[in-house]
Amino acid sequence: MATEGHCLCETVRYELEFEIEATSNCHCQYCRRAHGAAFVTTALVPTIALRITAGEQSIARHDGRYFCRTCGSRLFNRSDSYPDATSLVVTSLSVEPTARPVIHMNIESKAPWHEILDDCPQFASFPPGIEDAKRGVTKNPGSA
Ligand SMILES: [Zn+2]
Ligand SMILES: [Zn+2]
Repeated sequence: MATEGHCLCETVRYELEFEIEATSNCHCQYCRRAHGAAFVTTALVPTIALRITAGEQSIARHDGRYFCRTCGSRLFNRSDSYPDATSLVVTSLSVEPTARPVIHMNIESKAPWHEILDDCPQFASFPPGIEDAKRGVTKNPGSA
């Protein structure tokens, strides 16, 4: 069953045909500045599982970060190195995952005013194996 998502002004809408099992918090300075937040929570999903259903022409891109050009909502990230993998910004989902994020990454540039108080594993930069994860996330493990 597809999950839906949209930007704040609802110009951009999408459907996700993927069951999100894990999310991670990125504390890097780029995410923090782009989101205006202490960190961003994303889920790695197959690009093929994400279908833009409205407002595709309103999606702008800066350095691999996709957002609505009308309201500025951040939607997802995708690098040219791994076009089949998309890091979906989970706050754009209509129904957000309830499971807590499994890792904190890039905490070497975390906000000095933010304290991590949970016991999720922390990584100074990206966790080892993230490239393999991006290469591997080309199909839904839940679908045969
Ligand atoms: Zn918008
Ligand atoms: Zn980041």
